Amino acid sequence: MSEAGDRPLRAKRSLGQNFLVDPNYVRKIIAAVRPVAGDVVVEIGPGRGALTEGLLESGAAVIAIELDRELVPELQLRFAPTGRFKVVEADASEADLRVLIDTHFPGTPRAKLVANLPYYISTAILQHLAAERHCLLELVLMFQREVVDRITAPAGNSERGFLTVIVEGAFVVERLFDVPPEAFRPRPKIWSSVVRLVPKPESLADEPAFRSLISAAFAQKRKTIANNLKSVYPDIATALAAAGVDAKRRAETLELAEWLRLYTALCSSAEQ
Ligand code: SAM
Repeated sequence: MSEAGDRPLRAKRSLGQNFLVDPNYVRKIIAAVRPVAGDVVVEIGPGRGALTEGLLESGAAVIAIELDRELVPELQLRFAPTGRFKVVEADASEADLRVLIDTHFPGTPRAKLVANLPYYISTAILQHLAAERHCLLELVLMFQREVVDRITAPAGNSERGFLTVIVEGAFVVERLFDVPPEAFRPRPKIWSSVVRLVPKPESLADEPAFRSLISAAFAQKRKTIANNLKSVYPDIATALAAAGVDAKRRAETLELAEWLRLYTALCSSAEQ
């Protein structure tokens, strides 16, 4: 077991601290990241270093972003001697990743990213990572299983929502495996799941107006798209027809390509 697993654990619930203590799942997550010497890996929320240790053992360099200031000196003491470890006390949902990478490991075009994230921050961090994705090669993220159900929900699934479409616009999403509550201390009530996100190039889905459209369309999930959107977009009926989307459908039934067609139709009707 890792050094962290041997010590008494003081966990802060307010920061979503459930530390991974099962070495098999530590190994599985590290294997999903596939770190090699020469890589730079950004780790969000290193906690007591369960994943950090494995990342550094691969020869990769690690930039760890930890909000809990009490954990920072401990991480520094344990991992700084590798010469490939930097820890930054910050809120990862606001951190400028490009600046962090350039400051600590200049000359790195793109880094990998790994995180075991508390539930309270999942929406904010996913939106932030979508905006920051151009400095990232790929991301391996662990969330509460319900969050992964939501972001991987295909069109027609009732779990599909604003976050699903925003994440699909920014990343290719691959669900990897589930992690049981027993793998953590303290033990959470719920299962977790791990996903791999591969950044997509810049697209219309990055525009703030696209996000506003998706947010308005999912405002009341039981309503049709036309009913959700008619007060915000007076031309919605024409745009739906131009995009080939039936006005009676609900938002959860649309695929990303259909959202992009609808957005393009709305943009061109606004220009006329
Ligand atoms: N990675 C460790 C592990 O797997 O054992 C810890 C995971 S624990 C679920 C989440 C970690 O994220 C905690 O260390 C917590 O302090 C940290 N954290 C919570 N909110 C954060 C934020 N906004 N920015 C950076 N770290 C955060």
